[in-house]
Amino acid sequence: MNIEAKELSKIYGEGENRVTALDRASLTITPGDFLSIMGPSGSGKSTLLHLLSGLDRPTSGRLLYDGRDIYGLSDRELSAFRRRRIGFIFQQFHLLPVLTARENIIMPLLLDRRQPDEAYLGRLAGLLGIQERLTHLPHELSGGQQQRVAIARALIARPDVIFADEPTGNLDSRSGGEVMELLKTVGKEMGKALVVITHDSRVAAQAARRLTIVDGVLSEVGAE
Ligand code: ADP
Ligand code: MG
Repeated sequence: MNIEAKELSKIYGEGENRVTALDRASLTITPGDFLSIMGPSGSGKSTLLHLLSGLDRPTSGRLLYDGRDIYGLSDRELSAFRRRRIGFIFQQFHLLPVLTARENIIMPLLLDRRQPDEAYLGRLAGLLGIQERLTHLPHELSGGQQQRVAIARALIARPDVIFADEPTGNLDSRSGGEVMELLKTVGKEMGKALVVITHDSRVAAQAARRLTIVDGVLSEVGAE
């Protein structure tokens, strides 16, 4: 799937409170791409990710997934599109505390009234090293294990692209490093595009394409 963002802008507030969180960001993502986006706190990283993934709509600009403008979809169509095509990973894991790891992983499918493919779930759990943890509740898992469960959840619906917002931000450097390795391996094995937001330069350096964002202005490192 090709993703093409054209001059995406997001302005919050009015008058004195007006903030240009994102200023005409353009970007193309092709299958298998691995991008990192770095920038200081408040520079617009999360805003960009929310727009690229259709979690939010821009003030202006267009977003094409295989040529189709997804902001043209209704909210309902857009959320179905996200559930099927896009995986998310957050800094805070966002696992539901009363559900087991397995139940958390398959939740996106259940919301779509689909049943999990057990072989695929087994393969994911194996790749992520969480086979023995599937019956545990989140509080019985370490931070790194919780994030691995969240990665499995992001992949269970076989999305085309994974967006990760500071996926290692809540982990110590060792488990953060492991999570990044797994994310890269799984992304590569499964041919997913991977977009990782980070303020850790070691994480950013692992990406094939590196972008930075400063005061809402996106640029690609090494690009013209
Ligand atoms: P980052 O993820 O890089 O820390 P954000 O994208 O969250 O930055 O925020 C970019 C700017 O937009 C910041 O100035 C932030 O305060 C502002 N902002 C983000 N979300 C909102 C919102 N819902 N309402 C008003 N301002 C917001
Ligand atoms: Mg953020």
